[in-house]
Amino acid sequence: MNGTPFPESYWLASAERPVFRKLDGTVTVDTAVIGAGIAGITTAYLLAKEGKNVALVTAGRIMNGTTGHTTAKVTAQHGLIYDEYIRDFGEERAGLFYRASMDGLSFIRRTIEEHQIDCGFSEEDAVVYTNVQNQVSKLEDEFKAYARLGIPGSYSESIPLPVPAIASVKMTGQAQFHPIPYLSHLIREFVRLGGQVYEETTVETVEEGTPSKLISTNGYEVICQDVVSCSHFPVYESGFYYARLHPESSYVIAVASPKPYPGGMYINAENPTRSIRAVHYREEELLLVGGESHKTGQGVPTMEHYEALERFARESFGAAEMRYRWSALDFETLDKLPYIGRSTRKHPRSYVATGFRKWGMTSGTVAALVLTDLIMARDNPYAELFDPSRFEAGPSVKTFIKENANVAKEFVKGKLEWMSTKPEELGPDQGALVRLHGRKVGAYRARTANSICSMPPVPIWVARWNGTTVTGHGIVPATDPGSTAGERLSKGRLSSL
Ligand SMILES: Cc1cc2nc3c(=O)[nH]c(=O)nc-3n(C[C@H](O)[C@H](O)[C@H](O)COP(=O)(O)OP(=O)(O)OC[C@H]3O[C@@H](n4cnc5c(N)ncnc54)[C@H](O)[C@@H]3O)c2cc1C
Repeated sequence: MNGTPFPESYWLASAERPVFRKLDGTVTVDTAVIGAGIAGITTAYLLAKEGKNVALVTAGRIMNGTTGHTTAKVTAQHGLIYDEYIRDFGEERAGLFYRASMDGLSFIRRTIEEHQIDCGFSEEDAVVYTNVQNQVSKLEDEFKAYARLGIPGSYSESIPLPVPAIASVKMTGQAQFHPIPYLSHLIREFVRLGGQVYEETTVETVEEGTPSKLISTNGYEVICQDVVSCSHFPVYESGFYYARLHPESSYVIAVASPKPYPGGMYINAENPTRSIRAVHYREEELLLVGGESHKTGQGVPTMEHYEALERFARESFGAAEMRYRWSALDFETLDKLPYIGRSTRKHPRSYVATGFRKWGMTSGTVAALVLTDLIMARDNPYAELFDPSRFEAGPSVKTFIKENANVAKEFVKGKLEWMSTKPEELGPDQGALVRLHGRKVGAYRARTANSICSMPPVPIWVARWNGTTVTGHGIVPATDPGSTAGERLSKGRLSSL
């Protein structure tokens, strides 16, 4: 790819984010929220509105995790899922999931309207399509599931994009936005309500108790009654999350397209995945093409994924100029429902929100709504559905465990062992976990090959990276080296380590 842009998220490049200081002392609050992505920021904001004294603590800069590397469709259409949910959990719970997701969407829409946030929010229909004969019956079943659950939509044998398709299922009344101005507004409101935000502050340990104590890598503490881990991968030692979550990587490119875009948000049912939407934000008009999903650590070299997306954009839309490219990962749970609620029964005041399956714009928002009710000791209609302590080994769960046995093994191994890569062994545009000054850090060498930036410690399995990019587990993506808190080290200095 000639003229390939440096990896950079369009979202992070195109909008301002407020800056906050590091934690540099001990603070005592009602609630500590770990992780400033959509789940953590929305939770912190809602709790501050309830009158809670809240500290939001995040590694690196706010929104630098998966939230800054999304495609930002705001929808209850999470691929083909409702037929499967009906089979696995029954109609009532499948319907609950739809209503929860729509509540997430409604909350975002209402907040944007009330606060008049300029974030490119637009109502769009969401469409799953296929061009593969053996997927057609799955789309038909999904549409039957819509009918059973009362989900507004339609079935068609085509789509209005210049992309081959033989069947599609549409869910009407969905939306898209630019997440950064939206969340920047929420975080400013949070601060106005008395909330504290600490960037560049990685939580190393949580001593769960009454109160709980968060200890940062630089030794400072947050003492709190309730602790909420919205850190993508939970920070707690307890709960066996490393064996109950599996990471999937995906890639996105933003291109200038000569063809007019007819509107709508699209995703195909088959592999390789293709996710399509347009962006109209201020002066900018871009086409986003995402996909190439694969189990993290098991993909082909990263550039091949971007090349495949670029080829698709060129052949389908005549898109010539790639303006941005980025990648990230998201977690999937054993039964494909997020884990939102009390982390374990043993620690009722430690909460978690994770496992959004690449649909965290709605699910991360739902998480904030559910967690706020739990912390405020109120009933929530979705609390039981998402309870992390549930476990039902339906057929799809058994298949999942079988398929992911290797990944789970790597999780455990990665948790226990340190990466052996030395910083000076990193090639240009490469990332890995390394030891630096005796600490484990994610490190990335820029393409100019004369600087490396280290990132806050990444406590898990990225050790099994494919040797091309580090996105941590959403902590600080290597695609954004300019804004990490880490040290910038000259090659000369590295070689003397
Ligand atoms: C390519 C791609 C496309 C996607 N497209 C869509 C889409 O169109 N629609 C949709 O709904 N969803 C989409 N998703 C999913 C969605 O973006 C995520 O589910 C969501 O952003 C996750 O938000 P989060 O707040 O849980 O995590 P994150 O945004 O990752 O935030 C977690 C934060 O916690 C911090 N952190 C981690 N560990 C620590 C620690 N120990 N101490 C302090 N801080 C810590 C991290 O630095 C990070 O800032 C997509 C995902 C990917 C990968």
